[in-house]
Order: sequence, then C-alpha cells, then structure tokens
Amino acid sequence: MKTPYLLYSDGKGNIFEDLTLYATGRSGWDAMPVPGEDWIPLPNGGSLYELPGRRGIGIDVETGQMRLCDKGWAVAAFIPPAHTGFYLAAYETAPDAPTLPLFCYTAAGWQNDQFWVPATRIEPDIRQDCSGYDDKKIKVGAQSLLESYPHNRLVKHLMENCCQTYNCPAARNFSLGRWECPIPVSPACNANCIGCISLQPDEEPIVSTQDRLQFKPSPEEIVEFAVPHLATAPFPIISFGQGCEGEPLLMWETIRDSILEIRKHTTKGSININTNGSKPDAVRALCKAGLNSIRVSTNSARKNIYTAYYRPNNYQFEDIVESLKIVSAFGGWTSINYFVFPGMTDSIEEVEALRKLIRDTNLKMIQWRNFNIDPDWYLGKINVTETGDAIGIKNMQQLLQAEFPTLQFGYFNPPIERIKGDFQLDFAH
Ligand code: SF4
Repeated sequence: MKTPYLLYSDGKGNIFEDLTLYATGRSGWDAMPVPGEDWIPLPNGGSLYELPGRRGIGIDVETGQMRLCDKGWAVAAFIPPAHTGFYLAAYETAPDAPTLPLFCYTAAGWQNDQFWVPATRIEPDIRQDCSGYDDKKIKVGAQSLLESYPHNRLVKHLMENCCQTYNCPAARNFSLGRWECPIPVSPACNANCIGCISLQPDEEPIVSTQDRLQFKPSPEEIVEFAVPHLATAPFPIISFGQGCEGEPLLMWETIRDSILEIRKHTTKGSININTNGSKPDAVRALCKAGLNSIRVSTNSARKNIYTAYYRPNNYQFEDIVESLKIVSAFGGWTSINYFVFPGMTDSIEEVEALRKLIRDTNLKMIQWRNFNIDPDWYLGKINVTETGDAIGIKNMQQLLQAEFPTLQFGYFNPPIERIKGDFQLDFAH
C-alpha cells in the first residue's frame, strides 16, 4: 500500500486530495509518517469531518519534508464501531480555531479512488455494522414496543429519544429485538469527565452529544421489558449504564432489585453493567444478585491521568481497580472500555500501568474505543505537554496479546455464549 494523499476541505463541505502531499498521522502532539500497512479502506459507516481553523500536515511528495497544506481546512475521519484507529489526524491549529465537538478524529487520506484510514477491525461481532440496520424495520419495531409497554417511561425514552432521535445503535438493536439491550438508569453522576457525552457545563465550549436521562426508572419498569428481551432475543444481553445517563452505580439498589426479579423469570442471556466502577461495595452487591459482567470505562491505567480527566467526587482510581477485582473474584467477566488516544495510550508509562492493571485484576477483555474528543483540548485540559515515548497502538496490541494470550480484544460486551467460549466469529448473524 502506497501512502495515501492528504485530504483538505474547501469549507463548503467539499473534500479534495492534495497530490503534492502524502497524509501523515498524529501521535501525542506530533505529526509522523504512517506505515503503509497500517492503512485500510475507510469502513462502511465511517465519514469525514472538516476541521475548521486547522491546516493539515503532510509530507511533500518531492522533497519528503513535512509542511502544511494551505489549500483548505484539515480533514479527519470518523471510524465506525468495531474499529480502532492507530493515528489521529495531524494538523496545525490556529489560535482562534473552535474547539472540536465530541467525536473521534482519525487520520485519513485518498489513494486508488478510495478513502483510507490507519485502523483495524478489532471486533468480529457485527452488532453495530451500519449495513445491519433497516430503518423501516426499526420504525415498526419501535412502534410495537411503544404499544406493548404504553406506561413504561424507559421504553418511551429508549424508543423516542435514543432510537429515533439519536440513532443510538444499541437502542436500534433493542427495537429489532436482538443482542444487547440498553438500560439507562441514572440521572446523576459522581464524576465530571471533561468529555462527558451526556452533560457539559454551560461554560464549556462544546455541548454534550446526548441529553441525559431525566428520571429514575423503577425496577418494575426495567423488568417489564428486560425479561422478554432476555427470553427471546438472539445472543441476549441487558446492559445497565449507557451514554445517555450518569453513573448507574448510583442507582445500584434499583439494579440489584431488577436483577433479582429478572432471574426469577429467566436464566437466559447475560446481565452487564457499563460503569465508572466507582463503588466497589455496590458492585459486590450486584455480583451477589447475579451480575454477569462489568465494563469499566477509563482513559488511562495511570491514576494521575485518570483523575485529571474524570475529576471524581468521593471516589478514587483505586476503587475502579477494586471493582474489577471483585467481579473477577465472583467469576464474572471483566472488561475495560479503554479510550484510545494515540501517543498517550501507547506511551511506555501507560503500557506499563496497563500491564499491571491486567495482572492485578485478572482482566478478561479490553474494548479498544476511539477517544471522542478534540485532541488539543483534551491534552490541554489534563495539562499534558509531553506525552513521552510511544510504541504505537498496533505494536502495543501485539505485545499485550503475546504476554496475555487469554486476554480478549474487542469493542462490545460479549454475550454469555462468547464468555463461555461457545461461539463462532459470525455469532451475531
Ligand atoms: S462517568 Fe460517564 S456520565 Fe459521569 S461524567 Fe463521566 S462520562 Fe459523564
């Protein structure tokens, strides 16, 4: 694969290739060449962004020197779920450039009549592939759920808000009666993440991408639709903790009571929580009730980087480690939802901290998510001026796989069949 050409935008929604520059990638604060073998065609469901106030950094095809593209604004790619980017888009930011909204900004280029991105498909499960969504069936499914549960506020929230307004992939799967069903429960949170997608203070320059749940669902409302989903959906999972809410562990009593009641009606499927992991005692109570898996989100395995980003109230990094240990001790499945920021995630210090976290918690899975945040804004907010030496995301993944052969890589919470090792690569078909 030859290095693709740099892309630029004319500021009016048109994107062009600059045949005088090869695309580069960004790691930490620095632009750098991207190895040819790291580029893959932009996956179906991906899209491109113009980055106002920013000039792309490319490699001059004649001189081999790095220089700015002055033909238009820089361009980055959104890569769809199940894929992890190896490099961010490289650009120089003007002082008056607006802060970018909460999306991922992967490097992109053009070659052989197609767009390319430095990324990998990290997850075989097709559960959020865009080709699997049929809008007509989703509309019919959403209507049917609303009619089946006319008094259920949570079904109304999931179908009217998440599914039909925000096109949430998990809620859309619920409307189709398949796979992982989202269950948001908490209007409140005990952290103040810089890039929180459900709540941004008015004084910040960006807005949250979703509106936060405004009410506290009852166990009865949860059980009413969770039981039929677990009993009838293929590869069923119910997941507490979603992007449209606060921290589900603040509602742990509701979750505990729901799990206990659900398991009186069906033993099928798995029950998962996506969480910041801040309340180990609550996690223990949920494991006793029958929780099968936990996914703890984090931007880092290092306490200082975690704390600067999460800005936690009344808990600390050690609590999230303890929550993972507790689920492991109960024989449950443990994942981290790891926000990948090339240059930070693969820095030597971070890799060392992650190896320790994997060993200490007997971690079962890393879900490699692209960090949805303006890269300059993020590093500035957590006060990182030097990211240190980095080994490359791809290299990091290969080294971890060699050291921890049973550690799984992916992007989604596994169904119970995958947890038990009883699945095919195409298990979500
Ligand atoms: S833990 Fe989740 S809900 Fe809470 S501030 Fe962070 S991103 Fe927002």
